[in-house]
Amino acid sequence: MSVSGPCTICNSAQVEHTCNRCAQLVCEDHYDESTGYCVECAAELGQTESIPDSDDMPDGVDTYEF
Ligand SMILES: [Zn+2]
Ligand SMILES: [Zn+2]
Repeated sequence: MSVSGPCTICNSAQVEHTCNRCAQLVCEDHYDESTGYCVECAAELGQTESIPDSDDMPDGVDTYEF
């Protein structure tokens, strides 16, 4: 299967992959090989490694103000 057209994300002409989820054409930079998705779908599914774990904030402060 051959693809043609620019990358949907960065508009680059070096399209090499088609997203398995949204079927948009993406270049290698915007294709996640581990999932077969574009970076947009991969980010939506939370499987990108570039997302830092900032949700680890313990709520140990119990302040009651009456
Ligand atoms: Zn791209
Ligand atoms: Zn996609």
